[in-house]
Amino acid sequence: MRMAMRKWGTPTSGTGFGPVLLLLIVAVVAPTACLLWLITQATQNERLAIRQKLENAYRAELQEVRVRLEDWWRDRTDRLTALAADVPAGERFAKLVDEGLADSFILCNTQGELVYPVLPWPRVPESQPTGGPEEWVKAEDLIAAGALMEAAGIYQAIADQTTEIDLAAQALMAQARCLGGSGHHQAAIDVLVHRLSEPRYGNARDSNGRLIVPSAQLVALEMMAGRPADQSDFGRTARDLRARLLNYREPVMPTAQRLFLMERLGSLVPQPGFERWDAEKLALDYVESQTPLPSTTILTRTLLNRVWQLASEDKTVVALLQESRIVSETAAMAKKWATLPEAAVWVFPTGAGLSDRDCFLREPVGQTMTDWQFNVKLAGPNPFAKAAERQIAIYWWTGILVILACAAVTLVLARHMGRQVRLTRLKNDLIATVSHELKTPLSSVRVLVETLLDNECGNPRQTREYLEMIARENQRLSRLIDNFLTFSRMERNKRAFEMRAVSLSEVAKDAVEAVHERFHAAGFQLEIKTAPQLPQVTGDRDALVTLLVNLLDNALKYARNDRRVAVRINAVGDQVCMAVEDHGIGLSRRDIRRIFDRFYQVDRSLSRESGGCGLGLSIVEFIVDAHGGRIDVRSQPGQGSTFSIWLPARVEATRTEQG
Ligand code: ADP
Repeated sequence: MRMAMRKWGTPTSGTGFGPVLLLLIVAVVAPTACLLWLITQATQNERLAIRQKLENAYRAELQEVRVRLEDWWRDRTDRLTALAADVPAGERFAKLVDEGLADSFILCNTQGELVYPVLPWPRVPESQPTGGPEEWVKAEDLIAAGALMEAAGIYQAIADQTTEIDLAAQALMAQARCLGGSGHHQAAIDVLVHRLSEPRYGNARDSNGRLIVPSAQLVALEMMAGRPADQSDFGRTARDLRARLLNYREPVMPTAQRLFLMERLGSLVPQPGFERWDAEKLALDYVESQTPLPSTTILTRTLLNRVWQLASEDKTVVALLQESRIVSETAAMAKKWATLPEAAVWVFPTGAGLSDRDCFLREPVGQTMTDWQFNVKLAGPNPFAKAAERQIAIYWWTGILVILACAAVTLVLARHMGRQVRLTRLKNDLIATVSHELKTPLSSVRVLVETLLDNECGNPRQTREYLEMIARENQRLSRLIDNFLTFSRMERNKRAFEMRAVSLSEVAKDAVEAVHERFHAAGFQLEIKTAPQLPQVTGDRDALVTLLVNLLDNALKYARNDRRVAVRINAVGDQVCMAVEDHGIGLSRRDIRRIFDRFYQVDRSLSRESGGCGLGLSIVEFIVDAHGGRIDVRSQPGQGSTFSIWLPARVEATRTEQG
C-alpha cells in the first residue's frame, strides 16, 4: 500500500545532488571552517592582549609596592643600626629581640668579629692552683674508688686554701657533688646555695668559660626539688637564677649555658618561659651552621633551613628572619599598598611560592629582596577579563551571523541550481522519450501506408484491417502527444485550472465515455459504482477527467486475464474518494514508491508495447496536488491494484448529486 501526496517538482532520484553538495562545501563549509579558525585566532589574540594589558597594569602597581617595600626594609635596617648601639652586646641583643625587629640577631664589633651570641671559651688558670693538680688527682681517685666523703673533704680543703676564685668555686662545686652523691643533700645544698652565693664567686667560671654560680644554683634546685623542707630556699634560689638568666649585663654568660639553664629551670619551675629563648637558640644555631656573615644589606639565605639574614648598614647587627615571617609581613605590606583589582599579591623566594597554574604574574621584588619574587594571583573575574569575554562574544556572534547568512544564500542558490539541473535533465529525458515514443507508431503507420499504396486494388478486408491499425496507431500517437503537452504545460506550471463545483460522477461518466471503445475492444468489463448523495468537489472538470482516464488507461494496460475494472466513488467524512480497482499485474512495495516519478516505468517493454511513456501518474499526482487532495495506492503483485484519489468535499455546497 502506498500513500502518495507529493508536491510537483520534488527532486526525484539523481536530480543533481552532487553539484549542490559541492556548492554547500564551497559556500558554507569552507568559509565556516575559515571563519571558525579566524575567530579562534582572534579569541586567542584578544586573550593575549588582555593578559598583556593586565600584566602591564599590575606591573605598574607592583613598582609602587616595590618602592615602598624597599623603604620599609631601609627603615628596618636603619633601626637595626640605631637601636641600643651604645650598650654592651648582650644588652643590645636583648633589646633588639624585645623590639621584635627580627627573629634573632648576630652582633659583631666594628672589626666584624662576633660578639653575640657568646661562645664558650677555654679559661687559662691565672696561676698554679694551690693544692693541685696532685690534690685534684687524689680526689678524683677517691671518687673512682667510691670514697665520696673523703673526696669532698679534699675539695673543701682546696677551696679553703686557694686564692684563685675560679678554682675555689670549681672545688666547692665538686665538693657539693660528692656530698650530694653520698646522700648528704643538705650539706651539698648549703655549699651550693650559701657558700657559693658569696659575692666574690659572682664571676667565677669553669674551664670552658661557663659561670659557676648559676650552674651551682641549678644543681641545688634539682636536689631541693620534691623536698618540702627546702621550699623557701627553692623559691628564693629559683628567683635568683631566673634573674641571672634574664640579666644580659656583666657577668657575661655563654649563650649555650644560658640556653641550657633556661631549659632546665623551665622544666623545674612551672612559670612563664623565657621569651628570648627562641632568639638565643636561633642565634646559636646560626653560628654553629658556620654561615658566612653577610657583607651587604641584601636579604640572603643562611645555611639554616628557611632562615634569611640581613645586615645593618654598619654590619654590626645581622638580623635573622624566618622565611614564614618575611612572607607574612611582606604579604601584609603588599595588601596595604597594592590596589590591584581582583588580585592578591604575595612575596616568595624565587623557585618557591604559588604554582604556575595559580600564579598569574611573577615579578622580581628588588634591591633588598633580590632572591624574592612577587606572586600575583587573580581572585575571581576581573574587569579586563570581562571586557575580553565581551569582545570574544562579539566575535562569535558576528561569526555565527556570517555563517548563517552564507548558509541562507547557499540554500537559495542550491535550490535554484537544483531546479536548473532538474529541468535540464527533464528536458533531456523528454527529448529522448519523445523521439523514441513517436518514432515507433510513426514508422508503423509509414509501413502500413506504403503497403496500402503498393496494393492499390488489394483485398478490401485487408485494406480495412490496415486502416484500423493506422487509426489505432494514430490514436496512440494522439494520447502520447496529449500526455506530453499536458506534462509540458504542468512542468512550466502554466496550467491554469478552472476551479468550480464539479460532480465526480459526471467526471466518471466523461472518462468512461473516453475509454469505452478501448475497453470494449479489449473485452474489458468496466463497472461504475457511485454512492448516493455524493457531495461535489471544487476542481477543474477536464483535469479530473484526464486524471481518471489516465488511471483507467493504466488499468487497461497492466491487466492480466481477469479483465474487470471498477470505478467507485464514495464520500468519507468531509472527503470524496474516487477509486479505480483492477485485477492486473499489480505492483511491489518498492515500485509503488517510484511509479509517480517522471518517466519511471516498472517494465519498460510492457509499457512501451501498451503505448506508455512514464508520465501518466506524474500528471495524476500533479492534478491531485493542485486540487489539495492525496493519492492512496493499494497493490499486490499478481493480484491487482487500487488507486484511490481523495479530494476535499465542497464545504459551502448545498447541492448534492443524485446517486
Ligand atoms: P505509463 O505511461 O508507462 O503507464 P504511468 O506514469 O502511467 O506511465 O505509470 C508508471 C508505471 O507504473 C507504469 O509503467 C507501470 O509499470 C506502473 N503502473 C501504473 N499503473 C499500474 C497498474 N494499474 N497496475 C500495474 N502497474 C501500473
